[in-house]
Amino acid sequence: MSDTQTQQWQAMSRDHHLPPFSDYKTLNARGARIITRADGVYLWDSEGNKILDAMAGLWCVNVGYGREELVEAASRQMRELPYYNLFFQTAHPPALALAKAIAEITPAGMNHVFFTGSGSEANDTVLRMVRHYWAIKGQPEKKVVIGRWNGYHGSTVAGVSLGGMKAMHGQGDLPIPGIEHIDQPYWFGEGGDLDPDAFGVQVAEQLERKILEVGEDKIAAFIAEPIQGAGGVIIPPDSYWPKVREILDRYDILLIADEVICGFGRTGEWFGSDYFGNAPDLMPIAKGLTSGYIPMGGVVVRDEVVQTLNEGGEFYHGFTYSGHPVAAAVALENIRILREERIVERVKAHTAPYLQKRWAELAEHPLVGEARGVGMLGALELVKDKKTRERFTDQGVGMRCRDHCFDNGLVMRAVGDTMIISPPLVISTDEIDELLAKVRRCLDLTAKDMRA
Ligand code: PMP
Repeated sequence: MSDTQTQQWQAMSRDHHLPPFSDYKTLNARGARIITRADGVYLWDSEGNKILDAMAGLWCVNVGYGREELVEAASRQMRELPYYNLFFQTAHPPALALAKAIAEITPAGMNHVFFTGSGSEANDTVLRMVRHYWAIKGQPEKKVVIGRWNGYHGSTVAGVSLGGMKAMHGQGDLPIPGIEHIDQPYWFGEGGDLDPDAFGVQVAEQLERKILEVGEDKIAAFIAEPIQGAGGVIIPPDSYWPKVREILDRYDILLIADEVICGFGRTGEWFGSDYFGNAPDLMPIAKGLTSGYIPMGGVVVRDEVVQTLNEGGEFYHGFTYSGHPVAAAVALENIRILREERIVERVKAHTAPYLQKRWAELAEHPLVGEARGVGMLGALELVKDKKTRERFTDQGVGMRCRDHCFDNGLVMRAVGDTMIISPPLVISTDEIDELLAKVRRCLDLTAKDMRA
């Protein structure tokens, strides 16, 4: 019997492809799932299965799949000017129009953007930019950046180093020098007997201890996601961000809010920093900037920082594809859709409250120790004992649940024993009902496995 089309694709993967974040041996034994098309909040695989994508790709397809306007914007721009660079005193209209459009939606006082090709490149850029900034100000010794354990800032050398994923650090001698980490504000996992707010203050105070340990005149910046995404949708207690801000102000340290996931409406505000009322100095962005239709990232920079950069001579940094005209045209059209269809407002007023109400009901499920969420983000903590928060000793409970999801037409991701969602912002209440029904079914199947 000849191979099916799916088997042929799986063979191509095994024979020629090295996919990201994969255990190659396991993947090749099992065969990749091949996704062939998408529309709205749904994907279809090569076997014809329809799957509800509760992760919006990788947290990025904010306007949903199948938006013709984005296709048109790309093809129009490709005909007009498919490529030119922004180096050496040149520019082109799409990048400039996009920079202006971004300034209109970012927090007050953040009016400039440096374009990159991805979120990781955005974080490489912030590391170089904050060190350059302090050097211009005559304080070149201020170059240490403090990040958080289990934070995620990308997969380049700087991204991995700023992030706090220990498994990633373990491959290739990372972090690079000049990066420090403090604990994350993960109350369910690490809060012990403290109430959430007391725990939030306690982990924020670690920032001050780290500053004093390293030397207050040596710290350039603190980097954090407003809500940790890849780490497991970790929403800090209310007490956390105000305490962090107080400490950063006391020691004159820049705040880098990594908005790669939280940006462009994910929390029901334009940026996670708006949700928490934070005023960051730099914001790496990507993902929702183009709704994932084409790669693009950037760093949004506060006016005072720009004023200093203006005095610093040439900044020797940039990418061939910084502000790529086709990507910029798509991003601009994506922002137009988000604004004109009032998608962020609808998330805040209507669909996020509905999702969060239904999501909270999952806390009654015997496997669920906590159901938390903000906007179009959600997490479920799978536990053996709801009262003590004791985990299963079989560490595979999250993976089991994830596999049941895949088999039942749902993409939900597992981070250890934490199940997470981040659906397209355009998901309807009917689709939310379908999502919840599928999650419940998969939790039941997982609970049955765990009893067996
Ligand atoms: N920062 C955050 C907060 C992210 O979630 C990610 C990607 N998941 C990145 C940076 C890296 O972005 P990219 O994969 O586009 O390099």
